[in-house]
Order: sequence, then structure tokens, then C-alpha cells
Amino acid sequence: MQTNVTTRQNEIIAARRVPDNNIFIGGQCVQPQGADPKTIPLINPATEEVIGTCADASAEDVNNAVENAHEAFESGIWSKRSGNERGAILRKIGQLMREHRELLAGLDVLNCGKPTSYALFDVDSSADLLDYYAEIAENDEVTRIVPLTNAPGYVGKEKRFPRGVVGVITPWNFPLKMALWKSIPALASGNCVVLKPSEVAPWSCLEFALLCKEGGLPDGVFNVVIGSGKETGVALSHHDKIAYLAFTGSLFTGKKIMHAASDHVIPVTLELGGKSPLIICKDADLSLACKSAAYGIFFNQGEACTAASRLLIEEDVYEEVIKGVIEEAKKIVTGNGLENNVNMGPLVSKPQYEKVVQLIQTGFDEGLKCVFGGLPKTDGKGYFVPPTIFTNAETEHTLWKEEVFGPVLITKTFRTKEEALKLANATEYGLGSGVFSKDRATLDYFADNIEAGMCSLNTYHFSSHELPWIGWKHSGLGIGLATHGYYEYTRLKQVSEYVGTA
Ligand code: ADP
Repeated sequence: MQTNVTTRQNEIIAARRVPDNNIFIGGQCVQPQGADPKTIPLINPATEEVIGTCADASAEDVNNAVENAHEAFESGIWSKRSGNERGAILRKIGQLMREHRELLAGLDVLNCGKPTSYALFDVDSSADLLDYYAEIAENDEVTRIVPLTNAPGYVGKEKRFPRGVVGVITPWNFPLKMALWKSIPALASGNCVVLKPSEVAPWSCLEFALLCKEGGLPDGVFNVVIGSGKETGVALSHHDKIAYLAFTGSLFTGKKIMHAASDHVIPVTLELGGKSPLIICKDADLSLACKSAAYGIFFNQGEACTAASRLLIEEDVYEEVIKGVIEEAKKIVTGNGLENNVNMGPLVSKPQYEKVVQLIQTGFDEGLKCVFGGLPKTDGKGYFVPPTIFTNAETEHTLWKEEVFGPVLITKTFRTKEEALKLANATEYGLGSGVFSKDRATLDYFADNIEAGMCSLNTYHFSSHELPWIGWKHSGLGIGLATHGYYEYTRLKQVSEYVGTA
């Protein structure tokens, strides 16, 4: 098995077309500027091997990328093309993604450790996203006549325009998918983009940039800079030619991005963390609920902002549900994401592993009962943490309050719907939520009253780019995906005209 994995890893690395330490500016793979540009090692989290290095782009490189994007925008080569022309190119890029799906997915597996099947799903759904926004661009009516009452002789119009250069900063948990959720609607509506993916998982985004060129996207329209948050990210978010900032990541960094946006009074969308509740009522289909609860927290190693990390169970069915979730957790196969049957990989990096292990230790220290998993075995290589379930939570427990971003579930009982709602809402976050019940009124009660931007009924981690992606409270600002995500990247102009009375 080890030999197969090593062979596959070597094949994926050999298939890369963007050289190590390059960034993508003005339609070219280029070395960062300077005599001795800085680099960052890339580590496969399943083996702890250094598998390459990436650029640590300086403020000068970021400036170069933004200037290229700005020039492309001003030239009108993309921004003034019709929606039909833009749509055709996006469709072509989507098609190229499908042809290179194995490579793009493999790069995400090597960089962040996720199972191959999940990475392939990310690529396929991102290719569909390109088609979706191509269609919106093709059908976009950029001018709307506004009927004016009591204004004889006047005609009013609303016109929409792309904003300019969009700065996109994204995390490592879904490296390509999160980058495209932000970049594609921005491109579809006629903007140019400078993307800074996570320096931990940059490979798939760089290869995607080449596909954009091959698909006919004009040079300078889509640029990728790679580097640390503190240098590359700061330079991008503070650049005075950025017209819009789109960010996905932690609450801590999101606040900095918002500050940066205030310097130039530009809009920002933030997709931040969560501590999402999943509520199981006693009348639910318990088999479905237990499967979904396990998937809700353990999918993608728990490294998902919508991870259902707090499980609320109606008292009468508590034992049965805990047993059911444990049975589901036992079925999880942990290992190198390149192995066929694996459905849980390692955590992305040593710092992330250490943070999660520390939080599990805190669970023990605070007296929580661990009914599955726990501290990882320290023999062997890789940042693997077992699926872990704690029970007997109180609202003051650290694990009840803090986002872990790892495969750690905390559970608590409730007696009434009102109590469940209160517990669900007692968090600074408001991203995902889930409810399992067979009763319509119960489902509607929670859907209407949970303070979260997204509520899933009798399912979890259902995602469609046709639905808006929204964080309430400290989970975000602005709206991603759907038609809203497209219009975010446009700015409105009012046009009024005196045409005289007939
Ligand atoms: P995580 O800690 O999980 O990586 P972050 O929010 O720190 O989450 O990172 C998300 C993205 O934000 C990454 O691309 C990272 O490099 C970038 N980033 C981190 N700090 C800053 C910053 N101060 N300014 C701009 N970007 C940053």
C-alpha cells in the first residue's frame, strides 16, 4: 500500500506544470522579484515529508499582480466584454477543469491531506460552479428601466458595472473550492482578480490559473500570488487599487481584513468560523440523524467552517443517539488521502494538529466524558487525530464554546424545543445549523428561530451553489454564492434623464 501511495504522490507531483516557487501574474508563471526571494516549505500532512516549496511573495510582487490586474481591468479586455463572451470562456475553463480533475484533486490531497473522493467532489462541483456563473453572466441584464411615479418627462435607469480588481484571500481546508467560490462570480461579472490562497495549500490554485489561460481568459484578468498572511496577505488587503476584498478564514484574520478595507472605504465579504449546532428530536429518523451527525462533524476531518460540532439530543433518545453516532464513527477509515478506502485524512499541519490535541486535552482536564477517540497515538508519521466524541457538556466548557476545526464532537441533552433553541443560539457564531424531526411545526420552529445564516432540515452539509452562503453574527458579513454572490461584485449607478413632455 505504501508503495502505491508513494507512486501516486510522485505521479501527481510530476504532472504539475507550474514550477516550484512561482506565482501567476499577467498570464505568466513568474518567479517572485528580488535576488533571493523567500520560500515556504510544503509538507504532506499524511507523511510529514517536505514535498516542495512555494513562494513567499513580497509586497512588491503583490503590487506587480495588482497593477497587472488593474491594467487589464482598465483596458476593458474583460470588463467590457459581453456576458455571452465571458460566459463562453468560463464554460471552457470548467471543461478544462474536468479534463484535469485527477491532477487538481491530487494536489489538494497532497497539500491538505483530505481523502481523494472529497477532493474530486470539490473539483467537480467547482467546474459546475463555472457553468452556473457563465449562465448568469450570459443572462445578465445590466440596465433596468425604473418606472417613475409622479415624474412626467423623466426616465430613470439602474445600471450595473463590475467593481475593478477584487482581492481574494482564502484558507487551506478546501483550497481550490473556496478560492473559486469567491473568484468565479467576480470574474463572471467582469472584474479582474488577484487571489492569495493559503500558503499551506497553494498548488491547485496555481494549476487552475494555467487552465484559465488555456481557456482563453485574457492575461492579467486572473492572477495568483502565494505567500504568508503577514506579508503577502497584508500587502494585498491594503493595496489602494483593490476595489473589493473577499475573504474566507478565521474570525481573527477576518477582523484585520475589515480594518484593511476601511483604509480605502471598499466593500468586503467575510466567511468566518462557526460552532454549528445539530439538534436531534426524539421523533426524528434516528438512523438518518446519527449518520448525519457523524458526517456533520467528521467530514473533511472536521476542518469545515460549517462542521456540526455541537450535538443537541432530546433527553429520551440520548443513549440511543450516542450509541448510533459511535457506530458511525467506528466505520471511519483514517489514513493517507491517496488510499482508496480512506474517508478521513490527517489534519492539515503540525500547528493545527497541536491546537486540536490541546483542545482535546482541555476536554479531559475540564472533566468531560470521552466516549470515543481521544488523544491521538503518537507513534507513526502524519498529523492524524481520531474521530472524538465527548458527552456531558455544560455551556461553560471550552469545547462547547470554541471552534476546534478538527474531528471533535461535544454533546448535550435538552428537554424542550425552547431549551434546545436557547442552547443552539448561545454562541458568538451563526453559520450552519441542523434539525432532525418528522414534525413540520418543529422543523419550521427551528428554521425560523435559529440565529444562523444556514439551516439544514433532516440533512447536513447539503450544499448547492444556487443557494446563498451566509454567516450571521461573528460568522461573516455579506453573501456568497447564488445570484447574490454575483451581484456583490457589481456596483450600481443611477441614471436619470429629462426627455421632455410629449
Ligand atoms: P488559518 O489560521 O486557519 O490559516 P487564517 O484566517 O489565518 O486561517 O488564514 C486564511 C487566509 O488568510 C490565508 O490565506 C492566510 O495566509 C491569510 N492571512 C492570514 N493573516 C492575514 C493577514 N493579517 N492579512 C491578510 N491575510 C492574512
